[in-house]
Amino acid sequence: MPLRPRYGDLLLIVLLLLPLVVALPRLGGLGGPPELWLTWVGRVTGILGLAMMLLAAAVSIRLPGTDRWFGGLARLWRLHHWLGFGAFILVMVHALALGLAAVPTSLEAAVATLFPPPAQGAIWLGWLAWLAMVIFLAPTFDFFGQPHYQRWKRLHLVSAAALLLGLWHAFLLAGETALWWLLGIAGLGAIVWRKLVSPRVSRHPYRVEAVEPLARGVVELVLRPEGDGIRYETGQFVYLTPLDERLAAGRGEEHPYTIASAPSDSRLRIGIKDLGDASHALQTVTPGSRVLIEGPYGEFFGRRFPERDMLWLGGGIGITPFVGGARGLASGASAEGHVHLFYLANGPDRAYYQEELERIAEAEAAFAFTQHYSRERGRLDEAFLREHCPDFTEREIYVCGPPAMNAYLQRLLAGQGIPASRIHSEVFDFL
Ligand SMILES: Cc1cc2nc3c(=O)[nH]c(=O)nc-3n(C[C@H](O)[C@H](O)[C@H](O)COP(=O)(O)OP(=O)(O)OC[C@H]3O[C@@H](n4cnc5c(N)ncnc54)[C@H](O)[C@@H]3O)c2cc1C
Repeated sequence: MPLRPRYGDLLLIVLLLLPLVVALPRLGGLGGPPELWLTWVGRVTGILGLAMMLLAAAVSIRLPGTDRWFGGLARLWRLHHWLGFGAFILVMVHALALGLAAVPTSLEAAVATLFPPPAQGAIWLGWLAWLAMVIFLAPTFDFFGQPHYQRWKRLHLVSAAALLLGLWHAFLLAGETALWWLLGIAGLGAIVWRKLVSPRVSRHPYRVEAVEPLARGVVELVLRPEGDGIRYETGQFVYLTPLDERLAAGRGEEHPYTIASAPSDSRLRIGIKDLGDASHALQTVTPGSRVLIEGPYGEFFGRRFPERDMLWLGGGIGITPFVGGARGLASGASAEGHVHLFYLANGPDRAYYQEELERIAEAEAAFAFTQHYSRERGRLDEAFLREHCPDFTEREIYVCGPPAMNAYLQRLLAGQGIPASRIHSEVFDFL
């Protein structure tokens, strides 16, 4: 997914640079002997590193709607990830540069700068903040393999300690503290909101009305709101938290799922594939039990391009946003042009919603549907696309499926000269 600039990015850049701009007059110049410019680099990276860390926390607030300033929640998580990673690198450079700046004086001076006597608590607070960062960031490094999602989320709470310690370090050493207060409130406030307030005020209660089997290991949950349900657009997703006491796993755990119903439907429909403990247990959720819904998030179809027809490419359970779109067309929503949906599956046993999609294609002139089975025809290629949709390269393209399929399709489409700006994709994985 290309990181095209959005308005929210501008806000982040301003907030990131603000502490630096305020501090610059006190930092001196970049020139002069090595000890001077290394000190300058050390201070600048320290300021930027802490600001990045606080902003990484601030963007994790997950207020429905605000993710769209950044191009949807999936893109926002990527920004969060890169801000956190960038902060870590800058903090390392910060310590290294300040240590190196003291080397021309003596090696002992360099060691004492980094590891002063315990009485100089401000420096040690910085080291403790760094240690907390290492603890919560370590599982995200590929070296440790794919982290267990729920454990990784719990470990992420250590980030609050890293922020507090980092801020304390800055308050003791920085001349100007007003901006650190502002960024600190934004970063720590976001964590408090997400962990303590939002679970109580942002979740909407729904009741499971039906659990409809779609294939082996795949069901569709039909959910009826208790009170005001959420309003959403096609292609958006929610966090679903089941409360069913009889669930063998995942009770009280939130997981993201795409809404497969049409926005005009008063009930929410969510297709769930058994991909792990929680989604396996959800296959047997009890009708009548309650779930909590938070959202909606994302903007898969958020930006409109009425001047072009659309090509939708869905793979496996990645068909769900397109099912929502097709159901919308069937219930009278305007397509703003013609839509051609290709559904990529291994074989008929792995193609969900197929009959319903065929029925909609028969009834709606603005919607065409083509099934592609890789077991029969190999990987989807240009010839297959052109045979069924001759003008596919002229269309606005939406892709949703497993990461490997997504990457393959991006390459296939780019090979046809289709600009990245016309390809919109969603991957069911935030890591
Ligand atoms: C935007 C989005 C939309 C999705 N829509 C659908 C859908 O319509 N239908 C569907 O079947 N699946 C969908 N998924 C995938 C679904 O969220 C995961 O299958 C589910 O969370 C797996 O949880 P588990 O405990 O069963 O499996 P686990 O074994 O715990 O996890 C399997 C993988 O799922 C991901 N995952 C697990 N928990 C979370 C979480 N809380 N947040 C983000 N990712 C997580 C991780 O990459 C993990 O490696 C979507 C995911 C995303 C990010």
